[in-house]
Amino acid sequence: MASSPSTHNCLGWAARDPSGVLSPYNFSRRVVGSDDVSLDIAYCGICYADVIWTRNEGGTSKYPLVPGHEIVGIVKEVGSNVIQRFKVGDPVGVGAYVNSCRECKNCNEYLEIECSKGAVPTFDGIDADGILTKGGYSTYIVVHQRYCYKIPENYPLASAAPLLCAGITVYTPMMRHNMNQPGKSLGVIGLGGLGHLAVKFGKALGLKVTVFSTSISKKEEALNLLGADNFVISSDQQQMMALSKSFDFLINTASGDIPFDLYLSLLKTAGVLALVGFPKQVKFSPGSLSFGMKSIAGSITGGTQLTQEMLEFCASHKIYPEIEIVPIQYVNEALERLINKDIKYRFVIDIGSSLKTDG
Ligand SMILES: [Zn+2]
Ligand SMILES: [Zn+2]
Repeated sequence: MASSPSTHNCLGWAARDPSGVLSPYNFSRRVVGSDDVSLDIAYCGICYADVIWTRNEGGTSKYPLVPGHEIVGIVKEVGSNVIQRFKVGDPVGVGAYVNSCRECKNCNEYLEIECSKGAVPTFDGIDADGILTKGGYSTYIVVHQRYCYKIPENYPLASAAPLLCAGITVYTPMMRHNMNQPGKSLGVIGLGGLGHLAVKFGKALGLKVTVFSTSISKKEEALNLLGADNFVISSDQQQMMALSKSFDFLINTASGDIPFDLYLSLLKTAGVLALVGFPKQVKFSPGSLSFGMKSIAGSITGGTQLTQEMLEFCASHKIYPEIEIVPIQYVNEALERLINKDIKYRFVIDIGSSLKTDG
C-alpha cells in the first residue's frame, strides 16, 4: 500500500546519488499528529549544507535526498494540541532540525540542537517514527509544533527563509558571547550568506563592525549596502597588523582556511573568536590564546526559543537578508553558483509558485 501513488502526494526535488543532481521526486509525509503542524511551503533558502549533503561530502547521505532547511510556509492543518499556538493560515518557519527528545537537560533549556539523544535534522535524519526526514525543497512538510516558528506580522516570507539557518547560526554565538553591547567592536571574517547577516546584526546591536574579506570587490557593498564601518583585505599584512588588539569579538564565517594566529592577535584581552564556518582545520599556537586570555568558541544553529527571538529581532530592527529568488527548476544551477561563490548573498527558492503537484 505504501507504494500507492495516491499516498505520495508530496512533490519534492531530490538528489539520487552523489552527483548531487536534483530532479522531481514524489513521496509521502506522515499524517498530522496531535502535536504536529502541516505547512504548505512557500519558500526555501539554499544553505551550503544542501551542497554537502546532496553530494555526500560528509559520507552519511541517504538517497533519495530532499534537501532544504530554511523553510517558510503557511499552516494548512494543525493537530488537536496545537490550537493555542498556530492556526490555519499563519505564516511559519522551520529550521535545521525537526525533533529532539524534549526531556533532557539541554532540551529543557531550549538548547534542542544539543539534545542528549541527538536532534533530528530536517533532512537525511531518522525521525522518531523511523522514517528518513526530507527537507524543504518540497510542496509541504509536517513538523512537531515545538520546531515551528511564528514569522512576525508583515515580515516578507521570502526574506524570512535565510534566517532559519544562516540567521540563527550567527545570532546564537553573538548572544551567547554578549555581543549585544553597543560601542564594542566586531570583526566579521568572510562575507557570504552568514557573514552578511553578522554585519547586519552587529550594526543593529550597536557594534562597530569591520569586514575581513579576501576580495576587494566586496568593499563597496560591505560599506554601503550592508552598513559596515570598515573593510579590510585580509591578505594586506600591514593593514592587519595595524588592527592588533582592537577587537572585542570576531566571527569566522569563512569556510576556507584562515591564519588563526594572526586573527587572534587582533583580539583585545579576553576577546572571543566565534567559529561558525567550517575551515578544513583550526590551527594556532597555544600562546595566541593564553597571552590575553582569549577564547575560540564553536557554535551550530541554535535553540527554538532563541530562533523565535531572532525572528522578532529582525522584524523590529527591519533586518532583511539580501536574497536572489529562483524557481525550483533553477536549483541545480543555483547550487553550482553557490559552490563558485557567485551569489549575493542567499538563494531562496520560490517553492509556492514553481513547484506544484498538479503540474
Ligand atoms: Zn543550513
Ligand atoms: Zn533532548
